[in-house]
Amino acid sequence: MLDSKESTNKDGLLVYFNLTFDEELNDSGNGFKAVVPRSLIRRVMFACHGHPLSGHAGISKTIHRTKQIYYWPKMSRHIRVYVRSCQHCQQYKPNQSKKRAAPYVPHNMTYPWETICVDLCGPKPNAKGNLKWILVIIDQCTKYVELFPLAVASAKKIVEKINEVSCRFGHPAKIISDNGSQFVSTVYKEFCAKRNITMAHTSTYTPTL
Ligand SMILES: [Zn+2]
Repeated sequence: MLDSKESTNKDGLLVYFNLTFDEELNDSGNGFKAVVPRSLIRRVMFACHGHPLSGHAGISKTIHRTKQIYYWPKMSRHIRVYVRSCQHCQQYKPNQSKKRAAPYVPHNMTYPWETICVDLCGPKPNAKGNLKWILVIIDQCTKYVELFPLAVASAKKIVEKINEVSCRFGHPAKIISDNGSQFVSTVYKEFCAKRNITMAHTSTYTPTL
């Protein structure tokens, strides 16, 4: 049984009226596509994707290419599955997925103030005394927080404040920070080296700890 869009052309080929998006816009093709019998679907997909001249194009390109000449029910779905399971593509095509951050590895700690995190917030709108930065110091174990308003976010000032807190609670074994210029500066590095503190930097793609 033929549906309203199906017909046979003068050579007896079953065709289906299925305009592609381009044909709809520029009116260049007649829109009739050869209907592929079920037994030939895999061969057609091979011709449009896996054949050396087809170049193993991606899913949307293969669908677009196939739809220009052929039609069969649920063709997009079939092509998607075919391209995804193409062995050649899996073996030789580079991974197109977006780069993601590595999975979070918890920082081990056994006692309070062993590991602390430092970060800068700001610049905020100026407060009294031109204070526009907030230095945040958090103990990883207890989540105790110390905040310091700063006028300048210099490494010297940050070291001074970490030292102030450390004088109250003891020097931490490890400080975690981002890769901000202050935390990779010589002043900061020297401070950590002198007190035998391990510096840890969060990776570029992991904005939160
Ligand atoms: Zn392929």
